[in-house]
Amino acid sequence: MLMSGLYLHIPFCSRRCVYCDFYSTTRTDLMPRYAGCLVREMGLRRGEVQGPLHTLYIGGGTPSLLPPALVGKLLDAAQACFGIRPDAEVTLEGNPDDLTLPLLRDLRGAGINRLSIGVQSFSDATLSFLRRRHTARQACEAVENARRAGFDNLSIDLIYGLPGESLEQWRANLDAALALEPEHISAYLLSYEEGTPLETLRRRGRVQEAGEDFALACYRLLAAALRSAGYEHYEISNFALPGRIARHNSSYWQGVPYLGCGPSAHSFDGAGRRWNDSSLTAYMEALGRGLLPPQTCEERGRFTAYNDYIVTRLRTSRGLSLAEVEALFGADAAAFALHAAGPWLQAGRLVRTAGGRLRLTEEGMFVSDAVMEDFIRVD
Ligand code: SF4
Repeated sequence: MLMSGLYLHIPFCSRRCVYCDFYSTTRTDLMPRYAGCLVREMGLRRGEVQGPLHTLYIGGGTPSLLPPALVGKLLDAAQACFGIRPDAEVTLEGNPDDLTLPLLRDLRGAGINRLSIGVQSFSDATLSFLRRRHTARQACEAVENARRAGFDNLSIDLIYGLPGESLEQWRANLDAALALEPEHISAYLLSYEEGTPLETLRRRGRVQEAGEDFALACYRLLAAALRSAGYEHYEISNFALPGRIARHNSSYWQGVPYLGCGPSAHSFDGAGRRWNDSSLTAYMEALGRGLLPPQTCEERGRFTAYNDYIVTRLRTSRGLSLAEVEALFGADAAAFALHAAGPWLQAGRLVRTAGGRLRLTEEGMFVSDAVMEDFIRVD
């Protein structure tokens, strides 16, 4: 089995943000034992990866809560189990208030060479509403500290469509982000996920979800501002300076196999997906006994591979190749895709390039879910 990417999930946060439905817990006292379990899982699954790794991503949760010694232990284990290419992209997600200069120097020394910083907003009032731990000033300091510690590959996460935020405030957020000159920016529309406190506030009428027109205006502003600052809009929510696209996430969208370790982490072996159950207790119990954690395998139907191809490729600015669809899935699949594309091509949400590729336009990227839905084949 070929695998070249590794994802390590760190399911710890010091407190829960109001909008978040990711799997994580505030039991940070468990981190040292948990790191030992991750090392054991890598050992048990070493045969699933054909190393050396091209990318390694430590996500969460809040991986910047991990003491650097534990980060070093995880990277050592990954090196021992799979090997890591000398030019590998090695990313760690961090919360601005954790990213002090000494910590960043230690992380750099341990082998982390890219940071994804959860800034979300440069408004202190918004950050406090979101129950983020940091302030706008701390976000700027985190970036300054990272530069001083030698990081030359930084990504910043932002959220738009926040309750009460105007288009001018969003523009101010973008300006603040651009002033920090990160190599990469990811921006997401605030979503109201079932079971989150934010969704409860919405249901009780305490906050109002951004309307579609306003969200589209924010998205247009985002794309225009970042494009004029020299960023390539290479995926629905992702922008990068030349040569700085996120290699790990891009491999998800190109169908490259990867291994995910930790509770709720997903893996893809090139043919199918499976994921560890979202239970820290079950995970640590199994690995404590030297066993693999409980996993679920995706059920794959006749069209699953085609559908996977569509929803991953169409997300990116490269789009999908109709010739490739035909070669991989047959002439009827290519005809189906072309038929599905028809109305969206007419509406200007898709374009067909001279090379026979279908790509979302900027307006198309905003309604990508609806476009992709039309391409999906069901048994
Ligand atoms: S820090 Fe990240 S993972 Fe943790 S609760 Fe907040 S958004 Fe979720």
